[in-house]
Amino acid sequence: MKTIEKRSENQHYSAVDLGSLNDLADYSLVHPKTKKLVEGKVFLKDATNATGTQISFNSLPPQTEQPYFHIHYKNEETYIILRGSGFFQVDDNCLEIKEGSVIRVAPPGKRGIRNSSDETMVYIVIQSKANSLEEHTTEDGERIPVEPKWR
Ligand code: ZN
Repeated sequence: MKTIEKRSENQHYSAVDLGSLNDLADYSLVHPKTKKLVEGKVFLKDATNATGTQISFNSLPPQTEQPYFHIHYKNEETYIILRGSGFFQVDDNCLEIKEGSVIRVAPPGKRGIRNSSDETMVYIVIQSKANSLEEHTTEDGERIPVEPKWR
C-alpha cells in the first residue's frame, strides 16, 4: 500500500508528494463507515493539515464505475477529470465526461461516475462546505514584496 510522502511543513504550509498519477491505483484506504477497502483513492486533508477543504485524488480502472451513488449532508463537491472518459450522473442527469470536465455537485445531488474508456480514469474531488466561501480571489488577499528564493 502506498502512502503520501511528506516533504516539509511549518505553521504556514504543508507540502506532500503523491508521486506519479500513473501509480494512484496503489493507494488504498479503509472506508471509515463501511470498513471496506477502497483502492485507487487518497485523501489530502490530514496529510496537508487542510482546514477548509477535503481534496482527494482518485483513479478508476478501465471500463469500471464507482460501485455506489452517494450524497453529502453539508459539503459540495467539485469533480475535475484529468484522464479517461465516461459518464457522470447527478440525479437523473447523465453527462459525458473527459479530460478537462469539471462538475460541481450540491450536497443533496445523487452522484455516480463511470470510466467507459480503455485507460485508467484519474480525477480530483474537492470537497468544501456549501456556501462557506465569503471572500475570494482579489477580495481576499493583497500583493506583498518578497524576494524569490528561486532566483
Ligand atoms: Zn463524496
